[in-house]
Amino acid sequence: MAGRRASRPSLLGSVAQPSQAMFMRSKIQSFPRIILGVSSAAIPPSILTFEQARHVVEKHAAKMRPTEKESAELLEGEGRVLAEPVVADRDFPPFPRATRDGYAVRAADLVRLPVKLKVVGEIKAGATLDPRLRLQAGEAATIMTGAPAPSGADAVVMVEFTSHDGGTVEISRGVSAGENIVPAGAEARRGNQLLSLGTRLDHAAIAVAASAGKTHVQVYAKPRVAIIATGDEIVEPEARPGPTQIRNSNSYSLAAQVRAAGGEPIILPIAPDEPNRLRELISEGLEADLLLLTGGVSMGKHDLVEQVLVELGAEFFFTGALIQPGRPVVFGSVPRVAGGRNAVPPDCTYFFGLPGNPVSTMVTFELFVRPMLEALSGMTSRKLVFLHAKLKSEIKTKTGLKRFLPAVLSGEFEQAEVELVPWQGSGDIAATARANCYIVIPADRERILAGEWVAVLKG
Ligand code: AMP
Ligand code: MG
Repeated sequence: MAGRRASRPSLLGSVAQPSQAMFMRSKIQSFPRIILGVSSAAIPPSILTFEQARHVVEKHAAKMRPTEKESAELLEGEGRVLAEPVVADRDFPPFPRATRDGYAVRAADLVRLPVKLKVVGEIKAGATLDPRLRLQAGEAATIMTGAPAPSGADAVVMVEFTSHDGGTVEISRGVSAGENIVPAGAEARRGNQLLSLGTRLDHAAIAVAASAGKTHVQVYAKPRVAIIATGDEIVEPEARPGPTQIRNSNSYSLAAQVRAAGGEPIILPIAPDEPNRLRELISEGLEADLLLLTGGVSMGKHDLVEQVLVELGAEFFFTGALIQPGRPVVFGSVPRVAGGRNAVPPDCTYFFGLPGNPVSTMVTFELFVRPMLEALSGMTSRKLVFLHAKLKSEIKTKTGLKRFLPAVLSGEFEQAEVELVPWQGSGDIAATARANCYIVIPADRERILAGEWVAVLKG
């Protein structure tokens, strides 16, 4: 079966070929072979609440930062993480900017209304101001949005409150000083930081960089994330599965999640439930910046992942979390043998053992892998925060585990509603594909009524 084959070109294209230089086999072969004999009892079980487990990951993630940088064209930088701050190359705005079409005025002239002012000029956006133009008492100048306010003017009256007649304008509404004018440098002074290092470039950040004249940005190299699916029953999607075999979907959902989170996925061959080949693949995966394993972390007789990691010197930070799906999730690190490429500190490689049930894999990625991956990609850390929506139909469940169940967020505008999708449990990918979020159910709730506010995780 596919899992017993040697390295094969992956469906993810050239970067995903495990036999490439980035995985130096000589190093793997020189890795000390330890005879299997360690029982899973050697791993101190450490089952944490969801919040504790998340904090453990965040604590380790806070120690990580990438070292390699590269230059990207501005638009190519979308989704990448800034490895340099973006600084204002001029004042923002560079001149006192009118924010409305209307008349530049002196607010003190508009105390008694209506008032007639003499129109002494017209100022368009982009116009060079006549240095001789200085508004005197009783004067106004026609002005357009985005144009520089003339000296002497301290406010702009919107055109809607004026009527122009020949050389004068009658104004029917007062303004306070400063209204409808943004002073030069009010948004940022030249030399001020506009975007900090560690910002992930979204459309707004790209707008800022463009407005500061950046055609290229320094970004961090993407972290390489090795992905290993385990299990004797797992075959690659192109294989014709035997009656009891299952196609590998986890490597692909994870690769897609890794990409969306800014990493470079490297899919390794499927590891069988057999220690030698598993060890070989795990050692190979540990040469990446982060290793993700799926399957083989439950309590089954053939769940060997943790044992093999112990042999490789792993330290485990937790071996389970009180969540559903995803309870057997494992997080740890292994001392680095191949030397760090892209991470500080370079002395260890973090790994996650994600439960094999496809929905468990997806959920545990969102909850635990994402913060580590974001740290490895150089992003400033952020806390996980759930939004809330109104529950559409009642939920009954058991207490004891915090649940993240596939759900559909619907409604419109301010009326967000959410309800669970019917599913057959954490193996039901088809149901999950119909979902667009997860409802977060506290561990102490047995019943949640329709109409209650519930927390939602957007996956
Ligand atoms: P495990 O965590 O190895 O006990 O696997 C739990 C369940 O997830 C089993 O039903 C497996 O067949 C299934 N599973 C494990 N790995 C994968 C995978 N890569 N793709 C799809 N299903 C999987
Ligand atoms: Mg398995």
